[in-house]
Amino acid sequence: MAALVSAQVLALAQADFSGIAARFASVGFSVRQPARGILQIGASQRAAPMQLLLSVGVHGDETGPIEMLAHLLDELAAAPQRLALDLMVVVGNLDAIAQGRRFIDADMNRMFRAERGDLATAGEATRADQIMQATEEFFAGAPAEKWHLDLHTAIRPSRYPTFAIVPDLIADAGKQALFRWMAQAGIGAIVLNPTSAGTYSSWTATRFGTVGSTVELGRIGTLGQNDMALFAAPKAALQALLYRDAASVAAAPAVSTPQVFRVAQEIIKQSDTFSMSFDRDTQNFTTLPRGAVIATDGATVYKVEHAEEAVIFPNPNVRIGQRAGLMVVRQE
Ligand SMILES: [Zn+2]
Repeated sequence: MAALVSAQVLALAQADFSGIAARFASVGFSVRQPARGILQIGASQRAAPMQLLLSVGVHGDETGPIEMLAHLLDELAAAPQRLALDLMVVVGNLDAIAQGRRFIDADMNRMFRAERGDLATAGEATRADQIMQATEEFFAGAPAEKWHLDLHTAIRPSRYPTFAIVPDLIADAGKQALFRWMAQAGIGAIVLNPTSAGTYSSWTATRFGTVGSTVELGRIGTLGQNDMALFAAPKAALQALLYRDAASVAAAPAVSTPQVFRVAQEIIKQSDTFSMSFDRDTQNFTTLPRGAVIATDGATVYKVEHAEEAVIFPNPNVRIGQRAGLMVVRQE
């Protein structure tokens, strides 16, 4: 693997921030590394109008965003004084990244909550605790505008290759700013979700009032082999956030008009008898008509209740008690 992967990508995947940290420290930023794979850069001498948390690798096999962020940080570190906000970077499930796996023991993106049920003893729980603690410290400070973009890639093909899950509780002004950013990033669909499944971005929205989202940027790939051309729009949109200057904003025009969806039903696996009309090969946003059976679980039958519903994240193989899929409806 190493021979194919550039030095800066490998460094980020291995949680090595040494080069980047030194660059920012040398021009007067406060730099902290509260735990492995977590970097906090404070615009120490100026009033920070905004705090931005960027997280990648919460699922270890979702390598495209790790590559994109490595290039982004590399360019930023070459002109560190351009950073115009407080930045926190989290490289999530380091052990899983090292092994090229989604997770080692259990899905970490179900653990960002106080009550973890049977996930409390999973190997990833300790890492989730570290990340939550560092996030608390980061957002505890000044009353700045707070953003969190948790960058993923989807397991399966999708009718919308890029899409975002947005906590519905975010205030309207924040949502509008976020939707403008999504259009710059070329996001095809936005799903407003009123419930939390223990994801990192829903936890920060609930706990700190962050404007944020889980952002799905295309497909799973091997570290060092992702097509960075597919990440050009999200990268430019992130640079516009980080630099907040006219040139970088102009370089990130709106390139999509995201279709907005709303969650209609959450399909929770309750027993071993659970079976689903979809499997892991089903494309995200595949639709079913009213009355169609989505899943059965003992005596419970999940059916489509609207004229049409589309599925995202279908996965009948999750643990009992976990979400096996979301049904969404198009918002006019
Ligand atoms: Zn993911």
